[in-house]
Amino acid sequence: MMRAAAAVPTTMRAVVLTALGGTDHLEPTVLPTPEPGADEVLIAVRTVAANRQDVYTMHGWANRRAPLRMPHVLGIDPAGVIALVGSSVTRLSPGDRVVVKPSISCGTCAFCTGGEDDACENLENVGVHRQGGMAEYVAVPERNVFPIPGSLGFAEATAISHSFPVALTMVRDRAHVGPGDTVLVTSAAGAVGSAAVQLAKLFGAQVIAAAGGADRTAYAREIGADALIDYAANPAFADEVLAFAPGGVSLYVETAGNPAVWKESLKTLARRGRVTVCGSHGGPIVELDLTWLFRARVTIVGSSGSSLAAYRDVLALAGEGRVRPNIHAILPLERARDAFATLLARENRGKMILEVAAG
Ligand code: ZN
Repeated sequence: MMRAAAAVPTTMRAVVLTALGGTDHLEPTVLPTPEPGADEVLIAVRTVAANRQDVYTMHGWANRRAPLRMPHVLGIDPAGVIALVGSSVTRLSPGDRVVVKPSISCGTCAFCTGGEDDACENLENVGVHRQGGMAEYVAVPERNVFPIPGSLGFAEATAISHSFPVALTMVRDRAHVGPGDTVLVTSAAGAVGSAAVQLAKLFGAQVIAAAGGADRTAYAREIGADALIDYAANPAFADEVLAFAPGGVSLYVETAGNPAVWKESLKTLARRGRVTVCGSHGGPIVELDLTWLFRARVTIVGSSGSSLAAYRDVLALAGEGRVRPNIHAILPLERARDAFATLLARENRGKMILEVAAG
């Protein structure tokens, strides 16, 4: 027996991927409205973001387990209002304003039962392994759906849903950032990089934000960085970092991967420094001198995705105004191709949000 907020139409507007290969295969269409399973809720979507994750999915890079069933609905981080709840749903009700955590952990593997569900062995993603939120309705397991704090709008909730929990899991839970740290964040104007800048500041660290281009470093200044590096203007930037932090940085946060930036950044690490990495789209193969690694006693930590605990904490921090969601633009759902064009041209400073319905 399902509980409903109002009658749900049998069909819905959506933007779908019709074939692998990129944004040329995104098309507005009409689909049957999904039916939520017993442990799922059906959300009437208000906003969803265009993310790099969607681009990976479009090219077939994100889901290697099974081919996508076309037409596929992208969109990992929808926010909206619950329209229906399945029979075993207990925590949420029709009418609740909610946002979706993109990665779905299994709840039963050793990592999940140990509270490290970001490392779940059976992860699935909304909009990747199942239909996503670039549609008027999306069905999502209750455990991945969270109430939006009253102080946040739908677009703001979508804007923090992916990048901030990923950054929090990385800098707090994996790299243990704290007040004694001097942190170098590269790609500091990117979605995860800019979240890492805000969170490292929140945890009391000194933050050196590095990015390519004056407009990107200006943005990093706006979100609270203590020192700025423009590696487009000065590719040999290690001396600039060391002028600000003469003892070296204790933590280097790499969210994109760039072999030249990596090489220069390692020169800035203090003895017993840590490096944490959560992305490689800028170039995954980098140099590493093992002699330097052991002599400098450096720790390198990989991080991917986010835990349920980090997700809840980010929502609370955003609700209290302690981190600021970054929105570049809000476009109607049907302009999804334009949103991805801006993202792929790296012209955005903050999230590209799609509005599915007003409200
Ligand atoms: Zn698991």
